[in-house]
Amino acid sequence: HSSHDQVSLNAYEWLTKFYHHVLEHTKEGQEAKKYLIDRGVNEETIKKFQLGYAPSNSDLTIDFLHKKSFDSDELVESGLLGATDKQKPYDRFRGRVLFPIRNHLGKTVGFGGRAIHEGNEPKYLNSTDSRLFQKSKLLFNFDLARSEMKKVNQAVLFEGYMDVITADQHGILNGVASLGTSLTEHQAALIKRYVEEVVVSYDGDQAGIEAAIKAADLFHKVGLDVRVATIPENLDPDSYIQKYGGDRFKQEIINQSATYVSFYMQVLKRSYNLSVEAELMNYINAVIEKIATLDRAVDRDHYANELATNYQLSVDTIREEIQTLRQKMT
Ligand code: ATP
Ligand code: MN
Ligand code: MN
Ligand code: MN
Repeated sequence: HSSHDQVSLNAYEWLTKFYHHVLEHTKEGQEAKKYLIDRGVNEETIKKFQLGYAPSNSDLTIDFLHKKSFDSDELVESGLLGATDKQKPYDRFRGRVLFPIRNHLGKTVGFGGRAIHEGNEPKYLNSTDSRLFQKSKLLFNFDLARSEMKKVNQAVLFEGYMDVITADQHGILNGVASLGTSLTEHQAALIKRYVEEVVVSYDGDQAGIEAAIKAADLFHKVGLDVRVATIPENLDPDSYIQKYGGDRFKQEIINQSATYVSFYMQVLKRSYNLSVEAELMNYINAVIEKIATLDRAVDRDHYANELATNYQLSVDTIREEIQTLRQKMT
């Protein structure tokens, strides 16, 4: 096991350097470099995240690895290289901008690769899962974000690599992202070890909202204080920050993010026609069910009051309802 893992780690280290070099210093990488610069990623950030480019001629990658004495069969087996039935190995990431994905020790264990031409599908391609690279357990940028997370007692969960990178460049250093898959309980628990509060900051589109609900539920389940940010104008955090800057993102998006229950109140509202009495009652009951799941009595009271005020209800009735639900839960 571990000797194979060591070979993979070495290969990933060399590949990170190789791809970064191609991006920074070769003609082959010029277009990719321009792509990043045009997207507002600066020189310092390219370096910090060791962003790279996989040449479109995949032989260049294979030759490099051979020169470093790696055995291509072994690299195919461990998933670093692709190969169609016994044919020669190829670089799966050819023609893509590469985001090295590091483990908690800062070692590259995989890549995310973005196509630089519109229409090249898939837009993003990730390394395949292996013993070293388990998408369900890793978080992009976790190794660097950890100390800041601890310092500010808050983490920000983004959807994409570019969101994390742009946020970092603009002074938001506590951001992480899952790796193109939905957040898992394992990842939520990992974050819980460092902070008490997490802000889910996903894209403003429908897919983003649905994914944010799932992530918020998981964070709530592991015992974190959850907030959910809303990005306006169909932007995502990356494009919002590029347009308005990091300070405004902090002030208007992070600091104005909704609490877990407020977010639920907003989202649930869309599924009910509140001008119909029966639907309004169903909505209120759904909100009460959410409130009942809160651990702290002060929080339950706070939202019971808010609900009572908003809909001219008796707060005592709501409290009783919450108590009844909680008794059923245990
Ligand atoms: P960009 O700004 O470069 O278009 P993005 O991060 O805004 O990227 P989204 O479409 O919002 O892209 O997707 C968010 C994240 O989901 C990506 O960063 C990537 O990790 C993952 N992802 C997106 N499309 C795919 C795909 N086709 N296959 C695998 N993962 C994907
Ligand atoms: Mn999206
Ligand atoms: Mn996005
Ligand atoms: Mn984006």
